[in-house]
Amino acid sequence: MDSYRVTAFGAPLALQSEPTPVPTGRQVLVRTTGCGVCHSDVHLHEGSFDLGGGKKVDMTRSLGLPRTMGHEIVGEVVGLGEGVDPGEAAVGQHRVVFPWIGCQQCPVCKSGDEHLCNQPRALGINCDGGYASHVLVPDPKYLFAFDGLDENLAATYACSGLTAYGALKKAREAVRNGGDLLIIGAGGVGLSGVRMAEAVTGVKPIVADLDKSKWAAAREAGAREVIDPTDPESGKALYRMTNGGVAAAIDFVGAAASFTFGFNALRKSGRLVIVGLFGGSASLPVPMIPLKNATVMGSYVGNLDDMHELMTLARSGKVPGLPIATRPLADANEVLSSLAAGKIVGRVVLRP
Ligand SMILES: [Zn+2]
Ligand SMILES: [Zn+2]
Repeated sequence: MDSYRVTAFGAPLALQSEPTPVPTGRQVLVRTTGCGVCHSDVHLHEGSFDLGGGKKVDMTRSLGLPRTMGHEIVGEVVGLGEGVDPGEAAVGQHRVVFPWIGCQQCPVCKSGDEHLCNQPRALGINCDGGYASHVLVPDPKYLFAFDGLDENLAATYACSGLTAYGALKKAREAVRNGGDLLIIGAGGVGLSGVRMAEAVTGVKPIVADLDKSKWAAAREAGAREVIDPTDPESGKALYRMTNGGVAAAIDFVGAAASFTFGFNALRKSGRLVIVGLFGGSASLPVPMIPLKNATVMGSYVGNLDDMHELMTLARSGKVPGLPIATRPLADANEVLSSLAAGKIVGRVVLRP
């Protein structure tokens, strides 16, 4: 098998060839047909997430080089371990892979939240992922059918779709008694959020993005209004538009400015859900949290149940597609650079 691997943080991915693994036990071997390039791959490739103020989350130990990135994987089942029953998976099936795998032993994993395990075995992060001709999946329960959907789009459900879905589920609780939804950031994941916002929450979102080149895509994806959060008048305009603030805001950027904008946009009892990992450090007048009766919470991808719900929603045709471009896997380095430079609208799926 061929893999494009991180062999040194920040250095171009290196093409490595090795014997294709033979699945054992519960393992399933998948021949990759597509792998989405996620913005978090840019940070993983650099080896850290920026926390602002010169601080960083070190990812170098989590990755353990050399590592094949890529966690939005779609492919064909080409091999099964002896412990996989017929009916769980079969050679020739085309499947999306749920990559947010945990140790499968701890209380968190046993409660179903493998994506929050402290000993994660996530594909493309802690274990080898989809920037490769083949991927070894530890159990057939991580494979999802996507009948009727474009396979490149289906690949993106494993991270950008799931992340958007998980955040929208949290926002849904805040808008269930009426009120507006603000989505900050209309990049890859944010745009997925805009596209499925109405299907998940029942509300058409207001979208804030400082990059006007993303406005047309946001409108087409179902935004009720699009605003520029850097416009000094935008806060007041939003306040008027929503009669006193939004019930829920989802920050798909995760920078100091987007966090502050999102928090200030909340009405009383509003909920700010932070998803983005752009980086930065913000200060907030602490009394505003109780005075607004506000909730500030994070949302990290989603669990296997969320993935089941999302795939059911998607297969019922309620999640319109997002703009997807495909590139050969050999262009992985170029695509990562373009993504780091903010030059990509929607999603790029690499095809081995
Ligand atoms: Zn991702
Ligand atoms: Zn665990």
